[in-house]
Amino acid sequence: MRMKSEIAGEAAKQRHIQRSIDAKDKSRPKAKQQRAMQAGARNYPEPPFPEQHQPKPGHEWAIEPAPLYDAPYYLGSKKLDGKVALITGGDSGIGRSVAVLFAREGADIAIVYLAEDKDAQETKEAVEKEGASCVLVKADVSKREHCHRAVAETVGKFGRIDVLVNNAAFQIHSQDFSEVTEEHFDTTLKTNLYGYFHMAQEAVPHMKPGSAIINTGSVTGIEGSKALVDYSMTKGGIHAFTRALSGSLIGKGIRVNAVAPGPVWTPLNPADKEADDVAKFGADTPMKRPAQPEELAPAYVFLASPHCSSYITGEILPVVGGY
Ligand code: NAD
Repeated sequence: MRMKSEIAGEAAKQRHIQRSIDAKDKSRPKAKQQRAMQAGARNYPEPPFPEQHQPKPGHEWAIEPAPLYDAPYYLGSKKLDGKVALITGGDSGIGRSVAVLFAREGADIAIVYLAEDKDAQETKEAVEKEGASCVLVKADVSKREHCHRAVAETVGKFGRIDVLVNNAAFQIHSQDFSEVTEEHFDTTLKTNLYGYFHMAQEAVPHMKPGSAIINTGSVTGIEGSKALVDYSMTKGGIHAFTRALSGSLIGKGIRVNAVAPGPVWTPLNPADKEADDVAKFGADTPMKRPAQPEELAPAYVFLASPHCSSYITGEILPVVGGY
């Protein structure tokens, strides 16, 4: 009897809570379209962006609005003093901002890029403005011998490598999985997986204890993306590669971590998506906008610097604008 009345009492309590919430819901004005979240040192652009589409491999100078990479409010504090960093895909996008902030932290920079001479030259000038040296290496990371040459040219110029940032990538969507050709699949895997693997194999013999490898993964490697099946597969592979290689290089004192970005305003997407999709890029994240490259680069500084992350290896750090 007591139990029955307790149950009835509990149900009545639940209805009481529900009535109160229903009343609050009714009295609240309809939610307005939420603005993009701004939590940075300066405001960042939000969709809609101008519709645009670019030929591969994409050019930063042609994007509107121009990606923000120079982080004017970020002060360096010698976190990479005297070090040498080799950054693939460092001419533009995330890689460019990483190059500039690494230089601000005291590192000299080698940049590997495929074909974007004008972007690469602009990045070199931005690195030199920070008081660092910069060497440009035009190379195709999908080819083993090019990776060998990129490492040899870096060591030839600077005598060492302390940080390798594997960041170059090929991404092109396909709305229908069955339409991904062998050539497309091969290009994605050769660039994103073979490229990272070979760069690491070539660089590690030159890296001393205290060095670091940072791989750029992706939210697509965690969640998958139905229009990027091959690309998602490589990004998941990069995350597994990161964790596995971290164990393998513990004995050499080399840390290996990954950053997994969400949408970032760089040439990659205007050189992939259709123009109207580029206009909405990043709108479906909780922050309702894409990141700018300078919002990613500090994560790379953190994972590269022995002052910040000496006990961190094998991690995948998502920078995705919320959940
Ligand atoms: P980006 O276009 O600026 O950089 C890609 C770079 O890859 C270019 O500099 C290009 O020169 C280089 N590249 C492509 N193929 C190459 C090859 N065969 N050999 C040598 N270099 C080659 O774009 P980004 O967005 O800055 O991309 C950097 C990394 O971030 C990539 O790994 C990408 O997968 C990852 N990422 C980007 C986003 C995003 O929304 N932009 C999201 C998640 C992950």
